[in-house]
Amino acid sequence: MYRIFLLDIDNTLLDFDAAEEQSFKKMIQSYDLEYREEMLAQYKQMNRHLWDLLEQGKIGRDELLNTRFSQFFGLYDVEISGEEAEGRYRKYLGNSSQLMPNTKETLVRLKEMGKQLYSASNGVYSTQIQRLEQAGLLHLFDGMFISEKVGYEKPSLQFFQYCFKNIPNLEKGKTIMVGDSISSDIQGAVNAGIDSCLFCPSDPPLLSGATHTIQNLSELLNF
Ligand SMILES: [Mg+2]
Repeated sequence: MYRIFLLDIDNTLLDFDAAEEQSFKKMIQSYDLEYREEMLAQYKQMNRHLWDLLEQGKIGRDELLNTRFSQFFGLYDVEISGEEAEGRYRKYLGNSSQLMPNTKETLVRLKEMGKQLYSASNGVYSTQIQRLEQAGLLHLFDGMFISEKVGYEKPSLQFFQYCFKNIPNLEKGKTIMVGDSISSDIQGAVNAGIDSCLFCPSDPPLLSGATHTIQNLSELLNF
C-alpha cells in the first residue's frame, strides 16, 4: 500500500495534447498566419528533440523555451522573436486545463483515503499551477514539485532528492511515481529507488521497467 503519490501532470492528470494543440493553433493565428494541420506535427517533432536534449542535460530550459518557436517559424521563413512567441503560447496554455478521464474523482478519493499527493512535473511553475487551479485540482495537493522551481528535471536523481527532502514523514518504500513517460517518470523512479506506475491509456508497452502499468487513473485506488 502506497501512502505518498508523486504525480506527473501532463498527459497523466491533464490532457496536454489537447491543450498544446489548441494553444499552438491560437499562437500561430495571433501572428496572422494561416494554420495548417501539418504544422503541429512539425513543431512537436522539433520540440520533442529539444526536450530530449533538456532531459539529457545538454541544453537549458531557457534555451528550449526561447528558441523552439523561432526554430519552427524558420521552416516557413518567418522571422519572429522566439521569446515573444513563447509568451503568447504560454498565455494560451495557462488557460487550457482539460482533464484526463477520471482524474478528479480519483484524486478526491485518494485524499479521502489519507494519501499524500504531490505533483512532480517538468514544466513552468506558474503555468502548471494555473492549469491545476483552473481544473479544480490544486487544493488536492500537499505540495508541488515543478522542475522550474526544483532546479532539476525528471529523470535526474536531484529532482527526486529535492522532493524527498520536502515531503514530511517520507518513506521511500511507500512512495510511488505515477506518469505517462518512460524516459522521465519511470526512469526517474528507477534512479531514485522508488516504485513506479506507467499510465498508458492506449496499448501498454511490453517492457517499460515500471513496477505497475495502468490504463485508467482510477486503478490507483487499488494501490
Ligand atoms: Mg507526462
